[in-house]
Amino acid sequence: MKHRPLRIAYGRLFHEANAFSPSVTTLDDFERMHLLEGDALARAVTLRGEELKSFMPHAELTGFQQAMNLSRGEIVTVPLTSALAVPSGPITRECFDLLTARLLDGIEAALPLDGVYLALHGSMQVQGLAEAPEANLLRRVRALVGSSVKVAVSYDLHANLSPGLVDPVDVLVAYRTNPHWDLAPTGYRAGTRLLRAIRGEIRAVHVFRKLPMVLGGGTTIDFVAPMNRVFRAMKRMEKDPAVVSASLFMVHPYTSAERLGWAAHVCTDGDLALAEKLADELADRAWEMRKVDLPAMRSPAEAIGEVRGGAWRRLGPVTLVDVDDIVGAGAPGGNTHIVKALAASAGDLLAYVPVHDPALVEALWSAPLGTTHAVTVRGTPDYHMPEVPLEVTLVARTEGDFGRTVRLDAGGDKHGLRLVACERAPLPIHPSFWRAVGLEPRRADIIVQKNFFHYRMFYAALSFRHIPVVSAGATSLRRVREQRYDVPMHPQQVLADWR
Ligand SMILES: [Zn+2]
Repeated sequence: MKHRPLRIAYGRLFHEANAFSPSVTTLDDFERMHLLEGDALARAVTLRGEELKSFMPHAELTGFQQAMNLSRGEIVTVPLTSALAVPSGPITRECFDLLTARLLDGIEAALPLDGVYLALHGSMQVQGLAEAPEANLLRRVRALVGSSVKVAVSYDLHANLSPGLVDPVDVLVAYRTNPHWDLAPTGYRAGTRLLRAIRGEIRAVHVFRKLPMVLGGGTTIDFVAPMNRVFRAMKRMEKDPAVVSASLFMVHPYTSAERLGWAAHVCTDGDLALAEKLADELADRAWEMRKVDLPAMRSPAEAIGEVRGGAWRRLGPVTLVDVDDIVGAGAPGGNTHIVKALAASAGDLLAYVPVHDPALVEALWSAPLGTTHAVTVRGTPDYHMPEVPLEVTLVARTEGDFGRTVRLDAGGDKHGLRLVACERAPLPIHPSFWRAVGLEPRRADIIVQKNFFHYRMFYAALSFRHIPVVSAGATSLRRVREQRYDVPMHPQQVLADWR
């Protein structure tokens, strides 16, 4: 007997919101980064395609399509809409309504379906929407497809898990790496589990535990202590055939969402008692991690002193990580605190600094190269940063991923500040960021980064000392510590138990 092929639709709505950023995220930001649908999406999620251009060629949807290809001929996949923007301020209501309408219209047009897979983040925020945006979307997806269609989701491990993100779905998986390299394997895992659910091979039972903690786990890198033990425990749990998935969520703390906090999630095949037991066990392990604080941080002046006094800079540039202005966690990139400190007291060092300052770029864009200007660096508009007056020479200009970009030199030929001012949030993860404006990274004493980890892969042979620097900005941990929460929260309060 010949069965009709299964029909499974797939799509994405992915954004990490930073409620402390003065920027908002609009449709333009998605269009610039990643917005595909229909045939273009289907082509992008093949092994020859490029799913997230210039970021990650194979991500969740490619992994998902690979899982479907294992049953070639038995499954028809239907591409919906896939949208992703760089982490930034909350999404406008108009943009969210438009993107969700496209997804829902796509699902409606694709009916009848056997399954739907959506790659989501879990820490989105939408202006004027109190409900978690993912919960809003999933509620409407479920209403549209009815109870018999199986719905799978994958989340970033920085999702803020809540009933609205769990209850409407049959399959729930999350990234297992931090930094996140496993987008494609995550989509693959979602796909294989969705197929089992559709074929009636599993009866998914979900349990999750919410932890009243927003910080902990040290650097939270999955393969180093202390978090490596927790990630290993999760993988061990999944070896049991009765366990469908086990996931840990170390929340993105820079949103104003309700019931913010870490979470442990376990899904089993019909065994509620086992799911409860393992979710408790995973929550206990994660809760222990609250005792491990972040590595020691320096003020800008302390960091400059350390570079000057230390031997590291003879081996290569010392990286100052601008912890309070992490663009990958939604900060706008226009923090000027480090610029101010370097201008004041690092005239004997050669420092490369990226800064988001669209007004500065606009003012100098048409000026002849080689001309000198008295400027004031203000950073991101409405970010309330210190104003830094500087005498600069316009040395180079370029236009690329970060919009219009100018290189401004202050100080002497061999020392001083090399400011790379960008129209959009700068992310010098790759050394080519500097080379595009004629700066050789190897020659610098100091390079400022707006990113915690990813850049290290590309600077592995260049920079051997990395100093986290604190000031004030959209990713300030001080804000996380001082934020008002609706429940007692670690690290604000000393809490003995997560229950
Ligand atoms: Zn994340």
